[in-house]
Amino acid sequence: MVKNISILGSTGSIGTAALDVISRHSDKFNVVGLTAYSNISKLVEQIHEYSPEIVCVQSNDLAIELRKQISKEVEIVIGEEGLCNVASYSKTDVTLTAVVGIAGLKPTIEALKAKKDIALANKETLVVAGQLIKQLAKENNCRLLPVDSEHSAIFQCLNGENAKSISKIIVTASGGAFRDKTREEMKSLNVDDALKHPNWSMGDKVTVDCATLMNKGFEVMEAHWFFDVPYDDIEVLIHKESVIHSLIEFNDGSVLAQLGVPDMRGPIQYALNYPNGRLDLPIKKLDLLEFGKLHFEAPDNKRFPCLQFAYEVGKQGGTYPAVLNAANEVANELFRKRVIDFLEIEKTIRTTLDAHDSINDPNLEQILQANEWARKYSFQVIENQLKSKI
Ligand code: NAD
Ligand code: MG
Repeated sequence: MVKNISILGSTGSIGTAALDVISRHSDKFNVVGLTAYSNISKLVEQIHEYSPEIVCVQSNDLAIELRKQISKEVEIVIGEEGLCNVASYSKTDVTLTAVVGIAGLKPTIEALKAKKDIALANKETLVVAGQLIKQLAKENNCRLLPVDSEHSAIFQCLNGENAKSISKIIVTASGGAFRDKTREEMKSLNVDDALKHPNWSMGDKVTVDCATLMNKGFEVMEAHWFFDVPYDDIEVLIHKESVIHSLIEFNDGSVLAQLGVPDMRGPIQYALNYPNGRLDLPIKKLDLLEFGKLHFEAPDNKRFPCLQFAYEVGKQGGTYPAVLNAANEVANELFRKRVIDFLEIEKTIRTTLDAHDSINDPNLEQILQANEWARKYSFQVIENQLKSKI
């Protein structure tokens, strides 16, 4: 059976890798929906190559521009509502969520309500609303399939295992671009430095999140929701080669790991094809002799406090996770725009978290309110920091 796929964020790093997978297996996958934010030229190419039935762009002007540039019959929808339409499109079997940030939340909810399986790359959705998403997936009998390489590794290791036998999950981390930098050196490093990720080629936001280790913190939270494992049983291990994508320790002391060269097409393909196993993928094969040695170390919480913020906030729950994510989105963006320094990212997040009054078991509206509050508050924090420098 051919699976119909909708891709939210098809012009991005995950989106284009997914289309590459799909084009190699046209007997397995068919594209029905695509969305771009503003990269019209790439979307035009994708429309001509993959013939989706529905596409989404950010604004009416972009929709008019897009219509002029395409010769194919396709429904064009707009903005957040449009994103939700593509996510829940009637013919879709699997929705791949590959937009950045909380923008993925509402479309994921709509897709679940429409009983679509979710291949989830957009980890921020699970960070801010893990409980809600899990519940909706259960109610609607939908699969939540991990695309993030670490979670795909764990998911692959769990094949045929009883999840209740997990005693510990070990999430590996490259350590990001600043793995070996001192706090003193970090003060003067800028966005160009942060974007030089040692092993993975990804979108800018997530690459900066790797440099702060906020990404790893989000992945700990993501692992908690995907695999129902308490935070105290999730460990992070710095492994600079990014060859072991993550490990599970079971209650009999056995440890299973998944290895491979870093290439997101593997996890994407595994998720899209689930539960039908593995498909060919012509990528460089892992040669352990090329490495000779693999390295492991504990994360340094003093140099990278954002990882601990995630454990703290994950355990607290309530609206804290939404605040963590929002403050990070604001600070990450302003760092990328060269408005603030690298170390001001963690400072902004800490100050915003400390000022928040959390609500327990929040509903969607309360999560979105906390998100709005934290965005405004963290802007204010940054403005005050900038004023104090003048
Ligand atoms: P990217 O920046 O390369 O692409 C993002 C895509 O989403 C683009 O198509 C863009 O047009 C669209 N988009 C961005 N903001 C949007 C908004 N507000 N509304 C609608 N569309 C929007 O990002 P990426 O690296 O592909 O990452 C996508 C998601 O996948 C992130 O949540 C990231 O953390 C996660 N992820 C990425 C990788 C990777 O290798 N790139 C690995 C694991 C997880
Ligand atoms: Mg990852």
